Amino acid sequence: MKKTLITGAAGFLGSHLCDRFISEGHHVIGMDNLITGDIKNIAHLFPLERFEFHHHDVSTFVHLEGDLDYILHFASPASPIDYLKIPIETLKVGSLGTLNLLGLAKEKGARILVASTSEVYGDPLVHPQNEEYYGNVSPIGPRGVYDEAKRFMESITMAYHRHHGLDTRIVRIFNTYGSRMRLNDGRVVPAFMGQALRGEDLTVFGDGSQTRSFTYIDDQVEGIFRLLMSDYVEPVNIGNPDETTIKEFAEEIIKLTGTNQKIVHKPLPKDDPLQRQPDITRAKEILNWEPKVHRSEGLKNVFEYFKSLSKEELQKKEH
Ligand code: NAD
Ligand code: UDP
Repeated sequence: MKKTLITGAAGFLGSHLCDRFISEGHHVIGMDNLITGDIKNIAHLFPLERFEFHHHDVSTFVHLEGDLDYILHFASPASPIDYLKIPIETLKVGSLGTLNLLGLAKEKGARILVASTSEVYGDPLVHPQNEEYYGNVSPIGPRGVYDEAKRFMESITMAYHRHHGLDTRIVRIFNTYGSRMRLNDGRVVPAFMGQALRGEDLTVFGDGSQTRSFTYIDDQVEGIFRLLMSDYVEPVNIGNPDETTIKEFAEEIIKLTGTNQKIVHKPLPKDDPLQRQPDITRAKEILNWEPKVHRSEGLKNVFEYFKSLSKEELQKKEH
């Protein structure tokens, strides 16, 4: 039986990856310090013999007994609100955390996949973004704590591959949404849906002309799984190229939720990228992967999930 370590297991993406690897027949070790995640996301796995949970901060030394086949390093705050609140922890988990997990992979002879991000392209001057583009990131801007940690993560991963022959994979994840996102994590999908459900106005930052391309969780997990099982070492973008402005997106959510909310504008956060769309030529060619779930269908599913949350959870606000 394959044994797989998933860091960030109690988070949004990590918990869905735990489900996928359990359903593939693996023994899954979930590791998380719960700084932005929620144990409820993986509570359903606790009764399984093939699942174990380790409450641990991966920025400190990581030790595991026995063999290990795969490591998926997904531990890191991911929402701008989170990483601006805990900037040092964010830099540490991208740098020290990655170093610790590369060391563990080397010790065990395991294959490791690290979760990078479209943020390595910063506020991109090339559109859509392909993997050859080096990006436009401010190292000293507020978002630098996340972007540069992830850029370092990519560099050290390639160094371990080149210098130690480690079996590595790098996925560059574009904005992904689905169930188990924290309703108050400040990312645009939970933010707009929470506001619609609470009967509040939808807060569009800036004039809303900035763009994003949203990927449904099932498509993302499939892309990550295929990349891990491939033999491709260079970074691969996984994202849905269906691009929208944030203003149009807010209007789409108002229509979908059937609420009659208004849109209000708030200042655009510093260094908020103005445009983002993945070029997925590489994922198509190498992984034979492309997204299958249309935004209207994915958003409907995630709205049902948010509606099912308790009133208390719905009222919890970040700021
Ligand atoms: P999330 O906040 O829901 O999950 C992150 C998890 O990592 C949480 O459970 C948190 O408690 C855990 N964690 C953080 N620091 C840790 C540490 N030092 N030790 C152990 N656990 C720690 O975020 P997510 O959206 O699931 O993102 C998961 C990964 O995917 C992150 O690495 C993120 O950078 C990457 N990513 C996500 C997206 C997206 O759209 N969701 C886009 C690009 C990249
Ligand atoms: N955004 C917004 N209102 C909100 C939250 C986010 O207009 O309440 C915007 C944000 O400025 C950005 C886009 O939505 O342009 C996506 O933001 P998110 O935090 O989800 O992801 P990221 O900026 O990391 O892509």
